[in-house]
Amino acid sequence: MSIQITLDGRPVSTQAGANLVDVAAEHGVYIPTLCYLKGKPCLGTCRICSVSVNGRIAAACTVSVSDGMIVAVDEPALADMRKALIEMLFIEGNHNCPSCEKSGRCDLQAVGYDVGMLVPRFPYRFTPHQREVGAERIWLERDRCIFCQRCVDYIHDQHSGQKIFTIKGRGSNARIEIDKTLADQMSAEQVREAAELCPVGCIIEKGVGFNRPIGERKFEIKSVRQRALEDDV
Ligand code: SF4
Ligand code: SF4
Repeated sequence: MSIQITLDGRPVSTQAGANLVDVAAEHGVYIPTLCYLKGKPCLGTCRICSVSVNGRIAAACTVSVSDGMIVAVDEPALADMRKALIEMLFIEGNHNCPSCEKSGRCDLQAVGYDVGMLVPRFPYRFTPHQREVGAERIWLERDRCIFCQRCVDYIHDQHSGQKIFTIKGRGSNARIEIDKTLADQMSAEQVREAAELCPVGCIIEKGVGFNRPIGERKFEIKSVRQRALEDDV
């Protein structure tokens, strides 16, 4: 059913029930995301797509549009709130981009650039997270995990359907875990898929680090904003 919403003061025609992140992108409005993947079930974990919907703050990836909805994205207070959420992700982990295999291909880094983050306004926590290197072809650089849950919900053992990744613990004790037995049964394609799916440099495919020269990496060719607006993610 065709409906109309107001997007940053502009009337916009779309389909009832469409995802707000997608509707905004189709009409040239970029909403940053980290956990959201178009076409996959919404996770709603990272909240960096927070916008105003009918005057209330909501994670855009969790919103299905309906007729008459009034959405604000491009307002200074909302932009600053999203920037603060990105900063929190940086201070919760240990992110040293120049030495990271995912640099140039990392959604968190790319979105950090897009929102104009320089130095976080919050103190770094320097929480130690031990890396996990026991699986044959995957290692987990836990310091960089943002607990988006993509790997948990989208990567399963191809035979049993069991989860391969899980999040254990809560708060500062939360950590991403991998079932090493199931991980060692993953196909090469599935290992690559998991590493690509991870929006940061936490799931690393062993033996292929730094295989793209500087200047040729994903977000050096096209920004995260351009990719989202051109549906080229
Ligand atoms: S995961 Fe991303 S933000 Fe973190 S160190 Fe690596 S490139 Fe930087
Ligand atoms: S390992 Fe990567 S994909 Fe999995 S929860 Fe952490 S950040 Fe998300």
